[in-house]
Amino acid sequence: MEKNKINLLFVDDEEQFLESMGKRLEAREFKVLSVNRGEKAIEAARNNPVDIALVDLKMPGIDGEETLKLLKKEHPWMEIVILTGHGSIDSAVDCTQIGAHSYLQKPCDLDQLLEVLKEAYKKRVMNKNKIEEKKMNEMLKIAQSNSPREILRRLKEIDSG
Ligand SMILES: [Mg+2]
Repeated sequence: MEKNKINLLFVDDEEQFLESMGKRLEAREFKVLSVNRGEKAIEAARNNPVDIALVDLKMPGIDGEETLKLLKKEHPWMEIVILTGHGSIDSAVDCTQIGAHSYLQKPCDLDQLLEVLKEAYKKRVMNKNKIEEKKMNEMLKIAQSNSPREILRRLKEIDSG
């Protein structure tokens, strides 16, 4: 079933959060590759398939913004969602101007996260497969459900089919 999962690169220096949220995402539609530093994320993305990345903004070493730039440079189709704590919203907004799909403020709940990841993955599938938004929305209607999990599954089918 691994091949039916969406490859998510998850980068956060808060290891407890990384582990707990990573497990919860693994229980959903994701195969999660977790790393605690931007440097490791760059390396991991060179050696593993990655559909979307979830990147913490504040980390020791290269920060989320720099990680975003480097990932985008090497993997232009990768969609990246930035995670930010209180007080860093401005920097998170800057990130969306240099290519991040969106940002999410921590602490975030699983539903919020799934919703954002769903949108990011949808964009990737559209870009990668050259599907226009109108057509994509029609294709997603066939899933006959608005649950993010159902839509994620349908997106994965579209992506591999
Ligand atoms: Mg951090």
